[in-house]
Parts: sequence; C-alpha cells; structure tokens
Amino acid sequence: MTPATPPTEGRPDVIIVGGGIGGLSTAFALAREGLRIRVLERAPEFGEVGAGLQIAPNCTRILDEYGLLDEAKELGVVPENMVMRDALDSRELIRLDLGDLERRYGFPYMVIHRSDLHAIFLRACRKAGVDLVTDQTVVDYENLGNTAGGARITLADGRTEEAPLVIAADGLRSVARQKLVGDDVVSSDYVAYRAAVPIDAVRDNGIAEKDVTVYVGPRCHFVQYALRGGDMFNQVAVFQSPKALAGQEDWGTPDELDAAFEGTCETVGKGIPLMWRDRWWQMMDRDPIDTWIHGRIALLGDAAHPPLQYMAQGAIMAIEDGWVLSRHVARLRAGAAAGSAVDWDAALAAYEAVRVEHCRRILTTARAWGELWHLDGTERLQRNAIMRGIDPAEYAFTDWVYGPTALFPDEEPPMFRPVPLASARIEEDEAAVSDASAAHPGAALAGGTAR
Ligand SMILES: Cc1cc2nc3c(=O)[nH]c(=O)nc-3n(C[C@H](O)[C@H](O)[C@H](O)COP(=O)(O)OP(=O)(O)OC[C@H]3O[C@@H](n4cnc5c(N)ncnc54)[C@H](O)[C@@H]3O)c2cc1C
Repeated sequence: MTPATPPTEGRPDVIIVGGGIGGLSTAFALAREGLRIRVLERAPEFGEVGAGLQIAPNCTRILDEYGLLDEAKELGVVPENMVMRDALDSRELIRLDLGDLERRYGFPYMVIHRSDLHAIFLRACRKAGVDLVTDQTVVDYENLGNTAGGARITLADGRTEEAPLVIAADGLRSVARQKLVGDDVVSSDYVAYRAAVPIDAVRDNGIAEKDVTVYVGPRCHFVQYALRGGDMFNQVAVFQSPKALAGQEDWGTPDELDAAFEGTCETVGKGIPLMWRDRWWQMMDRDPIDTWIHGRIALLGDAAHPPLQYMAQGAIMAIEDGWVLSRHVARLRAGAAAGSAVDWDAALAAYEAVRVEHCRRILTTARAWGELWHLDGTERLQRNAIMRGIDPAEYAFTDWVYGPTALFPDEEPPMFRPVPLASARIEEDEAAVSDASAAHPGAALAGGTAR
C-alpha cells in the first residue's frame, strides 16, 4: 500500500518494526511529540485479522487524550454490563455495571472491531506524517557501538536502516525478542475460535445484545458481545485441546471444537456452529521478563509481554506502552534546552521502570484467571460461590488495571488480594450435583438449561 503522506526526509528519529496496534499507536504517540517516525511492516498491507476487541477505561482514557475516542465510539459499542455466567447451567455469577465503571474511572469500557481500531491509528499516523512502509521484513537488529550511535535493522533483502532508536513491536514471535532474549513462547494448550456475524443471525439464540457476556466452563469458555453499533455480533470460543495435551503437532483443529462444548448451555450451544472454522488461534504467551531495553533497541507490545487473553489487556498494554514512552519523551524535552535531541537513555529507562512490573502483573493474573475460568467439579462450584459473593462495587479487582496508567513505579496501584477457593461455601444441593456430574460428565446437568 502506498503511504498517503510522503516519506519523511532523511534519517528518522525512530524506526518501529511492526504495524500492528502496538506499532501504529506508538508511532502516532511519538509523532505527536514532533519526532520523525518510520514504521516497517512485513505484510503487503496494513491491517488486522480477527474480530472484536474489548478496550477498558485504561485505554479509552488514552484514546481520549489522542482525540480518537469519539471516532472509536462511533465505530464500536459501549455495552451496559459485563456478565459472567457458568457455561453449563448458565447461572449468573457476577454482573459489572459498565456505566458505574465509567463513572468511577471517567472513561468507558467499550468493544470495537480490531480492524476498526487499527484503522483509526493508521489514519491518525497518516495525518501525523508517519512514514508507513509495507513489505519490509526485518530479520536482524544490532546496536551501533555505544548507545549514542543508535541501532540498525537488516531487512530480508539485505538492506539496512538506522535510527537513534529502534522499537520492536513485532508481536508474539518477535525476531528482536528471539535475538535479544532467546526465550520460547509458552503454549497454554488452549485454542480460540472467533466469529463476527450479522446480529440477525443470533437474535433468537438467547443472547444479551447490550452486554459483554462470558460463559466459563470446564476447560472452555465462550465470549459474546455486539460490534459495529450493534449490527454485528462477536463470539469467541476457547477450549483446551486434547491433541495439544497428547503432544500432537496439529492441534486445536475444528473437529475438537464441537466436542469441547458438548454439555454447555443452550445459548453457548447455539453459538458454536457459527464460529469460523477455517482459522483458529493457538493461545500462547511468554514468561514475564525484566529487561525490555537493549541499548537502543526497545521491545514493546506483544514482543515484550504477550499475555494469554483472559484479562483482555494485550492490545491495551501495547497502547499504554507507546503512551508512557511518549509522555517521558515530552517530560524530558520540557526540561532540556530548546532544540536538543531526545535523551533516549533516560526515556527508555523510565519506560522500562514502570511498564515491566505492570505488565508482569497482567501476564501472571491472566494465567491465573484462565485457570479459574476453566475449573471443573467441586472447584467449579467453589469458584461460582466466590464469584456470586463478590460485591461489584468493591473496586479492588478493577482499580489496579482500569485506573490511570502509571508513569512512575510509585503511581502503580496496589494489587487485589486473591480469594482462596477453599474459603468458598458451596450449597449442599450444588455439591450433590457436582458428585453426580463427576461420575457422568454432562448428564447431571442435562435438565434445566444445560444440553
Ligand atoms: C482471541 C484473542 C482475543 C484478544 N482479545 C483482546 C481484547 O479484548 N483486548 C485486548 O486489549 N487485547 C486482546 N487480545 C490481545 C491483542 O490482540 C494483542 O495483545 C495485540 O494485538 C498485540 O499487538 P502488537 O502490535 O504488539 O502485536 P501484533 O498485533 O502481533 O503486531 C505485530 C506486527 O508486526 C508485524 N511483524 C512481525 N514480524 C515482523 C518482521 N520481522 N518485520 C516486520 N514486521 C513484522 C506483523 O505483521 C504485525 O503487523 C486478544 C488476543 C487474542 C488472541
């Protein structure tokens, strides 16, 4: 795709590798500070594959500062509630009033098609004069002498480019991460299927059009919400793959999808046949790491901290990364002599000092959250009892993530205290159902809303 804006003359201040949501939002954030930014994307066109994205107040706050929130609201949906239900009996476990959440945090919790959010940043980058180049596969990174020399990238065709700073926003399977850290991705053995369908295709399925609904079940979960002003409906089906557990190479295939959701409630059951079956996403993350800065090469977004998606914060963390870096650039420039170069060493140190710990918290909580969602037997009932007992107006579970993005470590809010499963009081009739269902999975729940 030809960039609408002519390429910036001369050497850029920053090269960003990867034009996903992380790369583009960071390019825009830094271009707003008057820097010359060049984005190198390996795909032939800028774009996003997938369906919906939840964006919480810690993201919409930043979109508002960028002047992009109104556009996002026009293209997306601001749901009324976030509701968690048990996927077997469909019983409600917790209901979060998103209007109340907006009052507390000052900005909405909303959902948007990921290609719409990506397009918002692409348009903003073009207007801001970012040099956007496609068909550029970066195969190597290197620092040039001491940090003042900047860094160099090598492209697949052998060409090289240099800049005072190179940001690797090249996703889960980042080339930079492989070279600089060398750790492996961690497979969760779970796989996601997605679908965005016209709302009329699901109106009779018992859906809640105005809510984000998450059905949590044994080794599976199912997410639903409306998109594009309510004209489309997004569904995500996630399950543990028996083939992955058996060590097979080709896992998460469509034949496993139906079996994984057998025994789930009617609404989930009606949603499964609508899932796209020609593509699926094996769920991987990486262990948190402490060092994202290597000289003048910085990791950002999924390249630095790819999460399991259970906290719905992956794209948001990437957007926050770019915002934090740009705020530190602005702060350091404000204190420097007019016309002086950015003190990248200081800006990068400040970025790393605050973002590493925040993202570590999200990554580890996402793993624990996934385990909690997928419990079975007595533990499932313990979880349900705890969730039903949570007071949604007890903001300890949301303040640490939806509050203002910290710029300095001492602004990072305290974490919530996890509630031990063993503290749950299960009602006697539920415990009896649990015993029966353990002997005959699905059978004991076949009455009522289960199928
Ligand atoms: C099922 C699912 C649901 C999710 N739901 C949410 C949600 O509700 N909310 C949320 O915030 N997050 C969510 N996420 C996470 C989110 O999608 C990611 O964290 C986010 O997209 C990461 O953005 P990124 O720009 O860092 O990486 P990517 O989106 O992976 O972008 C990387 C870019 O770099 C390019 N690239 C890669 N290698 C090279 C190279 N060598 N040279 C040049 N370019 C290269 C790629 O082509 C790509 O364009 C979800 C993820 C999944 C799988």
